[in-house]
Amino acid sequence: MRLAVLKERRAGETRVAATPETAKKLIALGTTVAIETGAGLASGFPDEAYREAGAEIAPDAAAALAGAGIVLKVRAPLAAGEGDVDELAQIPRGALLIGTLEAAGDPARAAAYAAAGIQACSMELLPRITRAQSMDVLSSQANLAGYRAVVEGAGAFDKGFPMLMTAAGTIPAANVFIMGAGVAGLQAIATARRLGGRVSATDVRPAAKEEIKSLGASFVGYEDEESRAAQTAGGYAKQLSADFYAKQAEVVAGHVVKQDVIVTTALVQGRRAPVLLTEAMVASMKPGSVIVDIAADAGGNCAATRPGEAIVTGNGVKILGYGNWPGRIAGAASALYSRNLLTFLSTFWDKDSAAPKLPEDDEVVRGVTLTRAGAVVHPLLADKQA
Ligand code: NAD
Repeated sequence: MRLAVLKERRAGETRVAATPETAKKLIALGTTVAIETGAGLASGFPDEAYREAGAEIAPDAAAALAGAGIVLKVRAPLAAGEGDVDELAQIPRGALLIGTLEAAGDPARAAAYAAAGIQACSMELLPRITRAQSMDVLSSQANLAGYRAVVEGAGAFDKGFPMLMTAAGTIPAANVFIMGAGVAGLQAIATARRLGGRVSATDVRPAAKEEIKSLGASFVGYEDEESRAAQTAGGYAKQLSADFYAKQAEVVAGHVVKQDVIVTTALVQGRRAPVLLTEAMVASMKPGSVIVDIAADAGGNCAATRPGEAIVTGNGVKILGYGNWPGRIAGAASALYSRNLLTFLSTFWDKDSAAPKLPEDDEVVRGVTLTRAGAVVHPLLADKQA
């Protein structure tokens, strides 16, 4: 079976869906791997490395996709009118497409896959269950985003993180505040601690409080009956009332004034990111302090964030609102993302037919499958199709 890996063409996307390491393992499964030329370059993997791993280098997307039964992508393939190449039109009917396709909020995209006869699996919809941990692209990418955000925040901060005692005097440790302690936030706490910062963190999910403390950070936050039930069955934060957010903001405001670096990571599934830092809070911060907003792609946790940009406010606060944080550490992000896809494929690999076999009743398969046999089948989308 031929497996194609395309160069990512969406703006700012630096990752790739297979590395030379995973290409070699995919070949060992019994596939023929075709990599579009230059696909790995932005992640530090030249064509030559793929060739050494046994892959074929295709001169363009059309050549990579010709006859492919499996297509691996980071982001959704470009459709007509989305760029120079209509990748979607070149994917053979019946092919299995795996990527972070972001179609749950975009029924037209899923409908296009169904119409094209593609079996589309969207990995960001993977159930967060123990069995699926090694295929969990949200976790692998969020972990690296949390690390990178702290490193970039430290780079933008014009003092140090650790207490520096020198013959010329002492520089105090930086106060670092992490808002949102999911996968990205917990890695941010650990990274900021390793750099020597004095770290505190907040979250609304009750389970997060103990996790924050177990990493050696102090917990700051408002808790009430509502927040004690703030976790969905899937482990995500629920949307909370305006009253709760106002009380949370009151507690946080007093803390924000004293911070040197704030990293925000708070997300509520399927919604705009909650605004946790108001314009007034930013105005209360010291000149030279830094806000790193990992949630910028979802609108941002800071009211002053300009998604996609780094800015300095009138009172001298730097706000890093870049998008695609995993893409800012593309080599590692591609390595982990491509291993997630490899694990998914090898878990559902049928050795006899040397092809993937995705049982419809499997919880993981059900969770990620958008389209099958020309129809949109995902529960999040099936209703919207009619
Ligand atoms: P996420 O990216 O959806 O959100 C990031 C964090 O923001 C979450 O911790 C959330 O509670 C927090 N948040 C939301 N609103 C907030 C607010 N107003 N103030 C402060 N914080 C706020 O979450 P995630 O990182 O994907 O993790 C979600 C959960 O899933 C976590 O409990 C995580 O441990 C769990 N998880 C489980 C597995 C597994 O296999 N069992 C794998 C990955 C993640």
